[in-house]
Amino acid sequence: MFWQQEIETMQRNDIDKMQLRMLNDTITRAKKSEFYSKKLSNIKPLTDLGQLKDIPFTVKDDLRKAFPYGFLCVPIDEVVRLHSSSGTTGNPTVIYHTAEDINNWANISARSMFTAGARKSDVFQNTMGYGLFTGGLGFHYGAEKLGMMTIPIGPGNSKRQAWFMKNFGTTVVHIIPSYALRLYYSMKEDGIDPKKDLKLKIFFIGAEQHTEELRREIQDLYGLKAFNSYGLSEISGPGVAFECEKQHGMHIWEDFVIPEIIDPETLEVLPDGQEGELVLTAINRIAMPVIRYRTRDLTAIIPEPCSCGRTHRRIARIKGRSDDMMIINGVNIFPEQIERTIMNIPEASKNYIIEIAERNYMDKLSIKIEINDDAFSGKLEDLEKLKCRIEADLKAETGVSPDVSFVDRGTLPAGEGKAKRVYDLRKKGD
Ligand code: ADP
Ligand code: ZN
Repeated sequence: MFWQQEIETMQRNDIDKMQLRMLNDTITRAKKSEFYSKKLSNIKPLTDLGQLKDIPFTVKDDLRKAFPYGFLCVPIDEVVRLHSSSGTTGNPTVIYHTAEDINNWANISARSMFTAGARKSDVFQNTMGYGLFTGGLGFHYGAEKLGMMTIPIGPGNSKRQAWFMKNFGTTVVHIIPSYALRLYYSMKEDGIDPKKDLKLKIFFIGAEQHTEELRREIQDLYGLKAFNSYGLSEISGPGVAFECEKQHGMHIWEDFVIPEIIDPETLEVLPDGQEGELVLTAINRIAMPVIRYRTRDLTAIIPEPCSCGRTHRRIARIKGRSDDMMIINGVNIFPEQIERTIMNIPEASKNYIIEIAERNYMDKLSIKIEINDDAFSGKLEDLEKLKCRIEADLKAETGVSPDVSFVDRGTLPAGEGKAKRVYDLRKKGD
């Protein structure tokens, strides 16, 4: 049931002791880097974990400014790999790994996959991008460590994905949630019913924000269990937090990171249970640990212990990034609220984009949704009724009146990586 039972079920006071020791080691190591030698010059070894809150934060911009080697704590010849964040919100940042880092990361990836039920006998198809993006290589090494036959297929080419799944009896897939939907519809067009024709059991879905409703949709379409997987390049990549078989929050591996939740405005640390921004301290990274790193991801630590027996605390599904918030005529909205509403409308195909424009000095929110041919009768008046219903639901959820329009399937932009859902066309800085 456990991959590393002793670690996964450690008692809280043992976790605290272990974290304090690992944190102090990390601080000593970090001080060898140019960035932290200055930033932490006044920090003495901590005697209590509570003192972590007195250490200054690190932000993404620090990583960019310290380009290329300002965060490196080891001589360059000990580095065996470089990764780079996908740069969804700006210039990419560069992350270095020693051989030990790669091995530790493979361990937590293997542990994560095992936690969700993957076993040595499984066939694993990794549809994440191989390359600078950490989704591909990160889980690849974990999957091999676990002993699964691993198909490093990479992203895109849905026909080829389905062909491999069919011919090699793929049981476990690592996939971006928005791509999971597109892949399903491509299979459907080709007459493949994954429930009957394939052996799929488990999806690991992550790398982008998605709702519980989207998870259920993916599970229903494919007839399998989809587990939420969270990670970020600055810490390593996927495997930082992962859902167990209970599918209720993601265990954040506390022998790898120390999680804190802060109020993004006041920067105060919040108690478990309260929602705020996730701050992570990597305590098991050699080449380039980040300390009190502000992820911008919004979540809460779930205070109750998990019934699976693991003692590492859980974080709730990521609600979005603090910089994702859209302000529409003064009303704050998260894209997650829009997705949740669309997911509850069976006639909408679940592929959508959000556009914000300025019209006559007012913000205008428009949602374009691909229509689901099965659910749609073809009559124009039904389409009009559906549009009014979605607009009313969105107004009730967000407090803003959006314009909803429908587009044919396959006409919305579809890249190979994380979906870009929000297009803000307003002029900035006027
Ligand atoms: P970038 O910040 O450029 O997108 P990464 O590829 O490192 O770079 O992506 C990490 C980010 O992806 C996280 O900080 C988070 O915003 C998002 N993310 C990753 N996994 C999940 C998940 N399971 N749920 C929601 N968001 C996620
Ligand atoms: Zn659990």
